[in-house]
Amino acid sequence: MPIKIYIDGKYYEKQDAKISVFDHGLLYGDGVFEGIRAYNGKIFKCEEHIRRLYDSAKAIWLTVPISEDEMAVAMYATLEVNKLKDAYIRLVVTRGKGDLGLDPRKCPKATVIIIADSITLYPEEFYQKGLEVVTAASPRIAPESLSPRIKSLNYLNNILAKIEGIQAGCIEVIMLNHLGYVAECSGDNIFLVRDSQISTPPPEAGILEGITRNTVMDLARNAKYPLVERNLGRYDVYTADEIFLTGTAAEVIPVVKADGRRIGDGKPGKVTRDLRKRFLKLVGRD
Ligand code: PMP
Repeated sequence: MPIKIYIDGKYYEKQDAKISVFDHGLLYGDGVFEGIRAYNGKIFKCEEHIRRLYDSAKAIWLTVPISEDEMAVAMYATLEVNKLKDAYIRLVVTRGKGDLGLDPRKCPKATVIIIADSITLYPEEFYQKGLEVVTAASPRIAPESLSPRIKSLNYLNNILAKIEGIQAGCIEVIMLNHLGYVAECSGDNIFLVRDSQISTPPPEAGILEGITRNTVMDLARNAKYPLVERNLGRYDVYTADEIFLTGTAAEVIPVVKADGRRIGDGKPGKVTRDLRKRFLKLVGRD
């Protein structure tokens, strides 16, 4: 079915959904975005995603031209227009049209884009067998330079790491931070399990604080798993019993090989499978 795309309050057919080449989102990656899912007509963690979007916008001095409530209404309306119940929603707010210089003051109004499309799930095989990952040579950008907590349109750091992963035959890749600690993956957060204790890097390690990450942390706490946020090194990765990743698209996905080393017994672990099950139950996909 052809999809209709929201741009600044109006809907356009896919082929007509265009923005200016003078938009600073294109010229400079000056903007912010969110990736969100709807399950059975309900937007998952809608408030949390909207809050993160507006926080990202605030952090880059960008005023979103509509309110948080209006954004939620517009997202639901976009699902409705496209008759979608299970969907992937992309919210994009760019700095808007300006001139060829960097100065954001030349961009009087931000552009708001909402794309809702059917979700392409990762092949079931990845969940059954687990992923192989490698560590990227390019570290995550230092938080002092550009905080990874801002979900900005500048994703080259992640894309370059992803390319390193692809070259090694992997669809995801571990990114270390500027200090050499494990940060996250190119589009997912990372968790390690050792002796049934779960650990994950803290937000200060220079990560995007994933909404799925926070949800899975709540599920783990409710299930009484010991859980810590702490700095982790590659040693911790290689000696983990289990590794799993979390993200809006991937949900909870096991990792069974890292940098050529087998993780645990090379199969998706017990804690990972349990947390995946709990997550699927939460979103109504069990
Ligand atoms: N880290 C990065 C760099 C991401 O881009 C994402 C989202 N794709 C995540 C982690 C996971 O965040 P969320 O659970 O909110 O999708």
